[in-house]
Amino acid sequence: MHPESSIYCAALRQPTTLSSRPSIIFSGRQLITSLTPPCQIFSGSKPLCRSNRATWGEKGDLASNSRLLGFSCRLPLPQDQILETDSHFTSYLAQWSASFGTPPDPMHSKHSFWDQPGIMEDRSTIQASLVDQSQMACYLASVAPHSGDCLLALPIANCGLRLEDEAVLVAVGMQLGLTLCVPHKCHCGSDVDAQGRHAIVCKKAPGRVARLQVLNDIILRAINAADVPAVKEPLGLNRQYGKRPNGLSLIPWQSGRPLLWYVTATSTLAGSYVDTTTTGAGLVADQAADRKTAKYANLRAQYVFQPVSVENLCPLSSSTLDFLRDLGRRISHISGDDREVLFLFQRISVAIQRFNSVLLHNSFSINRLDH
Ligand SMILES: [Zn+2]
Repeated sequence: MHPESSIYCAALRQPTTLSSRPSIIFSGRQLITSLTPPCQIFSGSKPLCRSNRATWGEKGDLASNSRLLGFSCRLPLPQDQILETDSHFTSYLAQWSASFGTPPDPMHSKHSFWDQPGIMEDRSTIQASLVDQSQMACYLASVAPHSGDCLLALPIANCGLRLEDEAVLVAVGMQLGLTLCVPHKCHCGSDVDAQGRHAIVCKKAPGRVARLQVLNDIILRAINAADVPAVKEPLGLNRQYGKRPNGLSLIPWQSGRPLLWYVTATSTLAGSYVDTTTTGAGLVADQAADRKTAKYANLRAQYVFQPVSVENLCPLSSSTLDFLRDLGRRISHISGDDREVLFLFQRISVAIQRFNSVLLHNSFSINRLDH
């Protein structure tokens, strides 16, 4: 388990984690510096924990689930013998049966089968503890599809997939509504609260532009990896139509029309959005995508317009999810690796979380003394 995963495991397991709990930050820091080995979260080639659904078990649970999965996959082995010789396995199976009913015979070979009842139970516990809108918005964002994919990314620095310690702390803190800083004045003059919410929406933060550029680079590289030549910020459309899309494919993408895309990012916890984000994950991203689609409606005859709309707590708009899945499949067709779509979601998730930390830093006014 790499450290980022450890933190989320440790943090999200707590039933009252959405209240202020700075100890999670400290335990996260300890987990990072103690370099927990990666083998505990993996069984075979697939990670045991497949999402951040506020549900991951402790290491003991993971180990037991791994055993259940492993044993049920080894069908030639006599299971009676295993049951007799492995006391930990039998005790865990008895515990699972007591909580969730009689296990199937033969035992299920998918890990998700064993995890799902515990996941639903933990989700109910956490949901029942939520007391205000921002907590509900954080919770819904954390269970949105692919919002926790940064946890599954291998922390390879050369590929831009390693989140710095501070970025992990900010990611965890924002997801759980923890105190991230001392309330202070942003350099734009607005107040930044202890959760750093203004920092994410500050229009004068240079990180906002950089975040869009990085996300746009990820999309461009992915489209190129699908063997489709494309360019950023195509010339001519601005002069001809008054539009400034982020990129254009140079060959047809669908139905004989080239792809035109635009990247946009919104804040899940912005004051004007929080009423929407408490009703469903990704709705703010959907609204932003709809606005961009309407803006580019006059180009639909010539181009396939695709908004790439993300929220800072990582939910994506529904059309973005469909587009990225399609793009991942196209890359897989070229590379032969079925995991391309997962890698694509992971890269985007890591980039979003990294820039939450950058934006928080942008809100600090740092006075450097001249020597
Ligand atoms: Zn500001």
